[in-house]
Amino acid sequence: MTGPRNVAVLGATGSIGRSTLDVIARHPHRFRAFALTAHSRSDELFELCVAHRPALAVLADEAQARVLRGRVAASGLPTEVLAGAQGLIAAAEHPEVACVMAAIVGAAGLAPTLAAARAGKKLLLANKEALVMAGPIFMAAVRTSGATLLPIDSEHNAIFQCLPERARGGVAGCGVRKIVLTGSGGPFRTRPLAGLAHVTPAEACAHPTWSMGRKISVDSATMMNKALEIIEAHWLFGAPASAIEILVHPQSVVHSMVEYADGSVIAQLGNPDMRTPIAQALAYPDRVDAGVASLDLARLAALTFEAPDFDRFRALALAYDVLAAGGTAPAIFNAANEVAVGAFLAGELAFPRITEVIEATLERVGADAVGRLEDVIEADARARSAAGVALGRAIVRTA
Ligand code: NAD
Ligand code: MG
Repeated sequence: MTGPRNVAVLGATGSIGRSTLDVIARHPHRFRAFALTAHSRSDELFELCVAHRPALAVLADEAQARVLRGRVAASGLPTEVLAGAQGLIAAAEHPEVACVMAAIVGAAGLAPTLAAARAGKKLLLANKEALVMAGPIFMAAVRTSGATLLPIDSEHNAIFQCLPERARGGVAGCGVRKIVLTGSGGPFRTRPLAGLAHVTPAEACAHPTWSMGRKISVDSATMMNKALEIIEAHWLFGAPASAIEILVHPQSVVHSMVEYADGSVIAQLGNPDMRTPIAQALAYPDRVDAGVASLDLARLAALTFEAPDFDRFRALALAYDVLAAGGTAPAIFNAANEVAVGAFLAGELAFPRITEVIEATLERVGADAVGRLEDVIEADARARSAAGVALGRAIVRTA
C-alpha cells in the first residue's frame, strides 16, 4: 500500500486553490497537500499551512515570504518557506510532488505551470491563460516529458469525460464532428447595452451560477472567458476552430458536449461546483466524493439554450480571428485582456471599453511566429505596453 499522493497547489489561496484543498482534505489517505503557493497574502497562506501542514509553502512576494517564514518558525510547523518566481518553479517541479494543481491566475502562472509540464507531472490545468499564451510550446513539453494533462476548466473537463481515451490527445480521425462549449452568458446577458457603461466591478463579479475569482468573473461578463476557452480547447484536443462551437446555457448544468459523426451528442452534467472537475482529475481514473450535492433535474425542471450574441460579446468573434492569425496572437489577446480587466477592476475603465482595448491592441501589435518561449514573453510585454496606450485613450474618451 503506497501513501497519499503528494499534491502541489499553485494558487492555493484562490477560488480553485481552496476548492482543491477542500477535496484533498476529504481524502487524507489518497492525497496530501505537499506544497502550497500564493502571491502575497502571508496571513492567508499561514492559515492554510496551519490547516494542511504542507512540507513547502511559497510566496511570490519576497518580503511577505519573510513574514511567513517567521510565523511558521514560531509555530513549529514542518513547513519550509521559499520565495519568488524560483520558489514557485521549485514547488511545481519538486521531486516528491506527483501532482500539480496549476491555479495561479493569468500570465503569472506560465513559468511554474510550464515547469510542471516539463517535469512530467500529473498536471491539473486551471490556469487557462498559460495554455492560451504558449499553446504549441506547452503541448510539446507535455508530449516530451510524458506529463499527464488533465483539464480543470469545467467545459474542458466535461469534454475530456465525453471523449474516448484515444481522442483525448487529439480528436482528428476519431469521428468527432464538433465540440460544443457551453457558457452561462454571465451577469449581463440580457442587460440593455446602454446600461453597461456604468456597471461596477462588484456587479460584474456577481456571477449568476459560479463563484470564482475576480478576474475570471469579469472575463465571464465580457465572455472573454469563453473566448479564451475556444483557444484552450483548440490546444487541448487538437480541434480546428471550425469544429469548436459556443452555446449559451444560463443554468450552467450541461458543462459542455461532443457531437459525433453519427449524430450522437454526449454531454457531461452536474451542479456548477468546481470541486467536481477537481475531484475527477485528482482521482483520475478513479472516482471520489467531492462534497457536491446530487443534481436534482426534477427541481431544476428546465434547461435552456440559446445562440451566442456575437455583437454583444465581441470577444467571441475575436477569438476565432486570433486562432486564424496564430503565432503570438493568442498571447497578445490574453495580455491585452489582463491589462483591461485590471483597469476595470481598479475603477479606471468602463466595462464596454474592455473589449475595445483588446481589439485596439490586436490591431496595433502584429502577431509573429512562435518558436521559443521568449517569443511569447516578448509578445506579452509588447501587448501590455500597447494595451496601456489604448487604455489611456479609452479613459480620456470616457472622462
Ligand atoms: P483567484 O484570483 O481566486 O486566485 C488566484 C491565485 O493565484 C491566488 O492564490 C493568488 O495568490 C495567486 N496569484 C495571483 N497572482 C499571482 C502571481 N503574480 N504570482 C503568484 N501567484 C499569484 O483565481 P481563481 O478564480 O481561483 O482562478 C485561478 C485560475 O483558474 C485562472 O486561470 C482561472 O481562469 C482558472 N479557472 C477558475 C475557475 C473558477 O471557478 N474560479 C474555473 C475555471 C478556470
Ligand atoms: Mg470554464
